[in-house]
Amino acid sequence: MEFDDNAQLDTSQVEDTRGYGGGGMGLGGLVGWGGGGLGILGLIAYFVFTNLVGHHGVSGSPLSLDGVGSGQQVDSGQLASECRTGKDANTKPDCTVVALVNSVQGYWKDQFARSGRTYKVVPTRFFRGGVRTGCGGASSAAGPFYCPADQTVYIDLSFFKELQTKFGAQGGPFVEGYVLAHEYGHHVQNLLGTESRVRTRQGPTSDSVRLELQADCYAGVWANHATSTPTASGQPLIRNISQQDIASALDAASRIGDDFIQRNLGSGQVNSSQFTHGTSAQREKWFTTGIQTGDPARCDTFGATNLG
Ligand SMILES: [Zn+2]
Repeated sequence: MEFDDNAQLDTSQVEDTRGYGGGGMGLGGLVGWGGGGLGILGLIAYFVFTNLVGHHGVSGSPLSLDGVGSGQQVDSGQLASECRTGKDANTKPDCTVVALVNSVQGYWKDQFARSGRTYKVVPTRFFRGGVRTGCGGASSAAGPFYCPADQTVYIDLSFFKELQTKFGAQGGPFVEGYVLAHEYGHHVQNLLGTESRVRTRQGPTSDSVRLELQADCYAGVWANHATSTPTASGQPLIRNISQQDIASALDAASRIGDDFIQRNLGSGQVNSSQFTHGTSAQREKWFTTGIQTGDPARCDTFGATNLG
């Protein structure tokens, strides 16, 4: 995967809080996180958080978004000066993420406009350790997530390393694109009102699983259009996506399925009654559906009788 060296980046879509506060200071509200938490569901905050790997490390007490100003100031100045063009995205990890966020939102902006709707551009916030959000406090152990209450994607970028070290996935910018596009898929669901359809929150055919698989499918839809979606500067940010990139993303999807996580990072037993995100095979299937069709309408996991 390669970015167009000359395309412009828009750092206004990313908020950097890593420079202040340090690893989650003052996050008294954090509960139930820490090593080995995978496989244990953060039931309390189930509904408000939709993240990539599971609902872990999330506290149940919603905090107001006054986190900004209490040790988590946004200072995106360094990003703004470092990440100007696709060339920066090709060479600097932070800028890669900026470019991916731009690309994903560029696609949805166009797609919404084509269907007579208005897409709302929302930020991705970088944090380290822990973060206060409109949905409560969360630690990095939760993995990246989207908070509907403040319409923000949150990510501790160390997750990308963890995908490789803990989950054994291959890394790479397109894998990061899959992760971010999945989270923005939840934002799309929020804008479309899909989240309100979630009534059953656990189990192999639960609404939660359908919501997550649809976010995977939406990620694939973005991938289908990524090289043809013009962003702010009028040209596509992404020049090419290789078969190897797609294979890497499918590999990542296969390592964050509920069955894989339960088997390898949890109790060792697969218990489908606790599924929240779908199996590895299902996640691969719906991501592939998105990539192959490029059509969000084909991501109707709520209407599907067979999830795969
Ligand atoms: Zn999710």
